[in-house]
Amino acid sequence: AAKHEQRGSVRFYTPELTKQAQERLQMRNDLRRALKNKEFIPYYQPKFDLQTREVLGAEALVRWNHPEKGLVPPFDFIPVLEEMGLVEEVDMMMLDMVCGQLEKWQQLTDTGGKIAVNFSGLQFKYEKLLDKVVDIIESHKLTPKAIQIEVTEGVLLEHHDQLPLIFRDFKALGFSIALDDFGTGYSSLGYLSKYPIDTLKIDRSFVNNINKNEADDILIKTIVSMAQNLKMDVVAEGVETKPQADWLASIGVRIVQGYLFGRPMSATNFEAAFLQDDGIAAHQTQIS
Ligand code: C2E
Ligand code: MG
Ligand code: MG
Ligand code: MG
Repeated sequence: AAKHEQRGSVRFYTPELTKQAQERLQMRNDLRRALKNKEFIPYYQPKFDLQTREVLGAEALVRWNHPEKGLVPPFDFIPVLEEMGLVEEVDMMMLDMVCGQLEKWQQLTDTGGKIAVNFSGLQFKYEKLLDKVVDIIESHKLTPKAIQIEVTEGVLLEHHDQLPLIFRDFKALGFSIALDDFGTGYSSLGYLSKYPIDTLKIDRSFVNNINKNEADDILIKTIVSMAQNLKMDVVAEGVETKPQADWLASIGVRIVQGYLFGRPMSATNFEAAFLQDDGIAAHQTQIS
């Protein structure tokens, strides 16, 4: 069978696929240049409290400010960076920029606000991660309380042995940890109590089905009550409509993120929309 497959693979050398391979190579070269020139920038999406109607902080989402293509979204290049073994460089660059921003946004940290950064699961294989992260935070005279680290649920499948300990070290220093895209990772629930996780972020795909798919409604309710029992916070991501927000509030979800409250935006726009001299602005839209 192996022989047969090998012979079949000859068709990968058709001109069309060579073009794909060329584009991939080009992308890799582009990414190396982008790292050198620091072409990555954080966008900020507000996290919103449905009860107090205040902005609690933000999630930082990387954008590649490509000289010709403009802003490139992360799904187009994060996997390539992971393949190249360079994703931690970008994640650390992002953390550094976010911390620089937090120094300026003191009113956010003064009121207990946090900014969440996304860490690739691959980073946790890197022994010096914690030292590096602490160095960056201290170089901006911040404390770990200002930062939440988001990792996707999938990370728990990959490194069961050391990971609870690594998470514990982060927690001990004051970082909080969120499990991103929760519900999509196909992992067993048994690990949840083993890991010191502060927040579950309900994946957008479930939120999208609210009031459409009864099974998903039940699933969200189950996640929320499980999180409450485990004393974890819940964040619902991808909230786009008022009925979704109302339904989430009715089942006890307080913290939400989504286009209804704000798209990811530049630091300048985030500041103008949500940070005022006298504190954090309540959200201005007609959310009741
Ligand atoms: P994520 O962490 O789950 O981020 C949420 C994604 O959903 C973001 O996409 C955001 O723009 C999008 N989103 C937020 N609200 C809504 C909504 O109401 N409707 C819809 N349709 N989408 C919404 P984005 O910015 O393209 O990021 C995609 C993913 O890339 C992120 O998913 C995260 O896993 C990854 N990522 C982003 N920044 C970084 C980073 O700095 N480092 C690493 N390693 N990964 C990152
Ligand atoms: Mg995230
Ligand atoms: Mg997410
Ligand atoms: Mg997601």
